[in-house]
Amino acid sequence: MNFNIDNTYELGANEGSSQATGNKYIVLHETTNIGAKANASYFKNNWAKTQTYVQIVMGDGGKIYRVGADGYQAWGAGSYANANSPVQIELARTTDKATFKKDYATFVNFARAKAKQYGIPCVLDGSDNGIKTHKWISENIWGNHTDPVESYLEPFWGITHEQLAHDIAYGIKNVVEPKKVFTNINNVVTVLKGNVKAYATYKLDGSANKTTDIAPGTGWISAGIEMINGKPYYLIGGNIYIPQSITTFKDKVLINSDIPVHAVNLKGEVVGANLNGGSAWKYASVVNVPKVGYCYKIATDMYLPLKYAQGSGYKG
Ligand SMILES: [Zn+2]
Repeated sequence: MNFNIDNTYELGANEGSSQATGNKYIVLHETTNIGAKANASYFKNNWAKTQTYVQIVMGDGGKIYRVGADGYQAWGAGSYANANSPVQIELARTTDKATFKKDYATFVNFARAKAKQYGIPCVLDGSDNGIKTHKWISENIWGNHTDPVESYLEPFWGITHEQLAHDIAYGIKNVVEPKKVFTNINNVVTVLKGNVKAYATYKLDGSANKTTDIAPGTGWISAGIEMINGKPYYLIGGNIYIPQSITTFKDKVLINSDIPVHAVNLKGEVVGANLNGGSAWKYASVVNVPKVGYCYKIATDMYLPLKYAQGSGYKG
C-alpha cells in the first residue's frame, strides 16, 4: 500500500529528539481538535515550547503529514513509550462523515503498514508488543490520556475498541462512502478571536478547569449543550465546557438539521411555520419551557429547543 506523505511541517535536522527508538509499539492518538494540517503546523511551531510532537498527523480526508522522523523518539506518550515507539500517529478530528471515513481507513491502514515495517504485530492493546492506544499506554505504563477511542472514535463515530482491534488486525480494504451527507448538521463551535491570550473552560458544576484553557479562534466539536448557572455551555471534552457567549454563536443559533424543525410557545405547543435546516436565528435568552426543556427565545412567544441548535451534538 502506498501513502502520500506531506512533508511541509517536518521538523528540521536540529529539531525534536535525536534519540533512536526501540521497536515495540505503534501508538495511536487523536488530537482533540479539528484539522490535520492545523495540528501538524502547531507541532512544527510549538514542539520546543510544549515539549510535544509525534511523527505523523493525519486527517482532512486521509491526508498524512510528517512532523517527526520515524525511528526517532517523539514526545507524545511518556518516556518509556516514546523510547520504544518508532511511530506515533495523531488522528485529527472532523465533523464530516465522508472525511471521517477516509481518515479512519488511512489511520488503520497506515498504522498497520508501519507496524509491519518495524516488525511489530498488528494486535491492538494486547499484553505484548503491538499497536497501542494512548489509553493502553496510560493504563499499563504511564499517563492519564484516554485517546483515541474513548475520547473521539466511539462517542463521535461509534467505532468501539473492539471494532478498531478488528480493523487493526485485518485492515480496511474498501472505503465505503456514506450514502447520506448532511449539509446543515454542524457541531463545530468556533471560539471568538478576541483580544485575549486564552479562554477558560469550565466543569458542569461551574468551576474552572484550571489546566485546560483554549486558544482564541480555535474550532471544537461539541457533544452537547448544557445549562450552567442559567447560561448555555458547549461540552467539548470530558467534563470540559465553554460558554456559548465566547463563540461565534454568542448571539445567534443555526438550525442543526437538514429538514425543517418546529419551534414551540411558552406552553410547549408547536407554533408557526417550520424553521429551515441551516437557517440562522437571533436569540434573546434561554428559557426553560414546560414539558420541552431549555429553549432559545428566538421571537415573541417562539422558542427553539436546544437540541435543534448547531453545537447540540445532534448527528442526523
Ligand atoms: Zn494521546
